[in-house]
Amino acid sequence: MSFSSFGFHARLLAVLDSLGYAAPTPIQQAAIPEILAGHDVMAGAQTGTGKTAAFALPLIQRYLEDQTEHHTDNNPVEKAIRVLVLTPTRELAQQVHQSFVKYAEGSGLRAVVAYGGASINPQIDALNSGCDVLVATPGRLLELVYKELIDVTTIATLVLDEADRMLDMGFITDIRRILKQLPENRQTLFFSATFNDDIYALSNTILRQPKLIEV
Ligand code: AMP
Repeated sequence: MSFSSFGFHARLLAVLDSLGYAAPTPIQQAAIPEILAGHDVMAGAQTGTGKTAAFALPLIQRYLEDQTEHHTDNNPVEKAIRVLVLTPTRELAQQVHQSFVKYAEGSGLRAVVAYGGASINPQIDALNSGCDVLVATPGRLLELVYKELIDVTTIATLVLDEADRMLDMGFITDIRRILKQLPENRQTLFFSATFNDDIYALSNTILRQPKLIEV
């Protein structure tokens, strides 16, 4: 299988080629078509399997498609947050943000990262200069929402990355508060390395007819 079989935009294929990604990993093979088709996904995936690209690439592909549509319609492209990725730690938020920047090179997609334990002002400045994809830790995201510094009502896709670690770190209440603010009609992608009753309880309440992916 090759990346071109997903129908990816030439720009995205060129980036993957320049990175030396010859073929999709198993989680990418399984997840990318489901995400492109708009399904919710519940994926069991360890770090190192290529899980970040498994959700980033189809979301960038969708962005590129939307750009093309708007361009031919001759409409200015709306600049609103379309994707929210929640991560348990600042380090993972930074890594996922870097992945979006790398894969979306030349596409015009603007990815912003926001995490706690650091000054909020540069993050607000970055958000104000335009954000298509926001990668954030739960506490800082809520702070931005409660201070009315971001509009989360335009979010079409929510990604929970390393959901098991988020629960281990006690973020369940924050996650539930965030979910209340998001549109109900959205795509949700749920990634976790491990599964237990708490994970199933959370995923059951937020996923709609998810495609189950285990590699
Ligand atoms: P992750 O599981 O998201 O932490 O990714 C692990 C590593 O695999 C990262 O360094 C990626 O750059 C790399 N990677 C992801 N997808 C591919 C691919 N299809 N081919 C080669 N390397 C990849």
